[in-house]
Amino acid sequence: MFKFNSVTSALALAVFATACAAPSPSETQSETAAATPSLETADLTQAPIEITADMPTAGTNLIDLYTYFHMNPELSFKEVKSSTIMAKELESLGFKVSTRLGDTWTREKSLRDNGEVRDRVGGYGVVGVFENGDGPTILIRADMDALPVAERTGVPHASTVIDETWTGVSNGVMHACGHDIHMTSWVGTARNLIAAKDDWSGTLIMIAQPAEELGNGAKAMIADGLFDRFPQPDYNLALHVSASLPSGKVAYSSGYALANVDSVDITVKGVGGHGAYPQTTKDPVIVGSSIVMALQTLVSRNVHPQTPAVVTVGSFKAGAKHNIISDEAKLLLTVRSYDDETRAMLLEGIERIAKAQAMAFGAPEPEIFIEPDSIPSTYNDPELAATAAAAIGAAIGADNIEQAPPVMGGEDFSEYSRTDAKIPSLIYWVGAVEPEKWAAAQDSELGLPSLHSPFFAPDYEPTIETGVTSMTAAALALFQES
Ligand SMILES: [Zn+2]
Ligand SMILES: [Zn+2]
Repeated sequence: MFKFNSVTSALALAVFATACAAPSPSETQSETAAATPSLETADLTQAPIEITADMPTAGTNLIDLYTYFHMNPELSFKEVKSSTIMAKELESLGFKVSTRLGDTWTREKSLRDNGEVRDRVGGYGVVGVFENGDGPTILIRADMDALPVAERTGVPHASTVIDETWTGVSNGVMHACGHDIHMTSWVGTARNLIAAKDDWSGTLIMIAQPAEELGNGAKAMIADGLFDRFPQPDYNLALHVSASLPSGKVAYSSGYALANVDSVDITVKGVGGHGAYPQTTKDPVIVGSSIVMALQTLVSRNVHPQTPAVVTVGSFKAGAKHNIISDEAKLLLTVRSYDDETRAMLLEGIERIAKAQAMAFGAPEPEIFIEPDSIPSTYNDPELAATAAAAIGAAIGADNIEQAPPVMGGEDFSEYSRTDAKIPSLIYWVGAVEPEKWAAAQDSELGLPSLHSPFFAPDYEPTIETGVTSMTAAALALFQES
């Protein structure tokens, strides 16, 4: 008998490994949460509030800090030590620091989706506020979570950590999306800006965000009062490493930068039976295959040819044995777009095609689940992008910064610009590939390891240096502009 639970657990890992910040439907949907215990009965596991002997203290040099983060990666919703280190660093620099932002939202979600809150699972958002006179309020965000990917880079500081995801799937853990570089650059930027505090005035808000890879951490922090309990920013800034840009370089998009990310589960219903007597069945594999093919016409025939869109069926599972026609098939889709109209058109089209194909075969109507915790597209404010790019170019050399086309990956940094205040925001790319390796890859058929690859080994020293220099320059320019 086909068991969905075991399949969805394995799928959780597959989805994690393929897309930045793609929420896995199997990670978030609540099909197993029949009874929802109350929050009061949950086992509340608090973050340590002090640095333990195995953790770097405030002021540790950036390379040692990076090496620690890389060797001690923590999965989404479990960023216990990372968040403590970030909080302690801000405290030592004179910020007013709050921790555990997003905890209420996260624990409620865990109870809703998993029926429990597992050990060390919680919301580990950190907010530091540094008031430095009149002027703009600027928020700088780093994300902290690692991925359930077993590292295979072979570098001396490779991670050997094995841990359970927040839903209980055990796997190797690795900073395969470079969030360790983001954290280190964020610390370096905070140190620089505080050291230069006589040169600017305004309010600096540094936030360390959990669970970006689930597309949930920004939501959790906003839901728990990021923009109500703390000053409202005039600008939001973030950076992300790039696995296709040489170290020392920065790239940015003006306008749309990253895509809407939607996850859709289609459960195709059939009537099972003996593989030798198909006339007695309604074969869900045939119906599902037909749905997969028909879905491809959404992008090729319905979307405007100049408008980017993706419909990918990442998983198609059915049946258990050669000679049994199963009674169900399950398709898991990732759906990408930029604008709201294209997104709505794709989601409606998926539903229409799935139902119509089932009807064409005389099969029962399929069940269609659209993950409500989707990630909205990221829009870089063009004016902010121009100001920041000019400042970054002045700091690292105008030859080292370029405009880049948007990508179909997703980033929940978008959430910070999607509140009613519509805060102008910018996320830019910092090159992380050794220049020689990058040059060699241009003439070779072998591509470079992408983000989320077990082989992604950033050229960390120059990447961190560029991350710190660029973010410091962008923030200073915005403080000094007004
Ligand atoms: Zn990622
Ligand atoms: Zn990432």
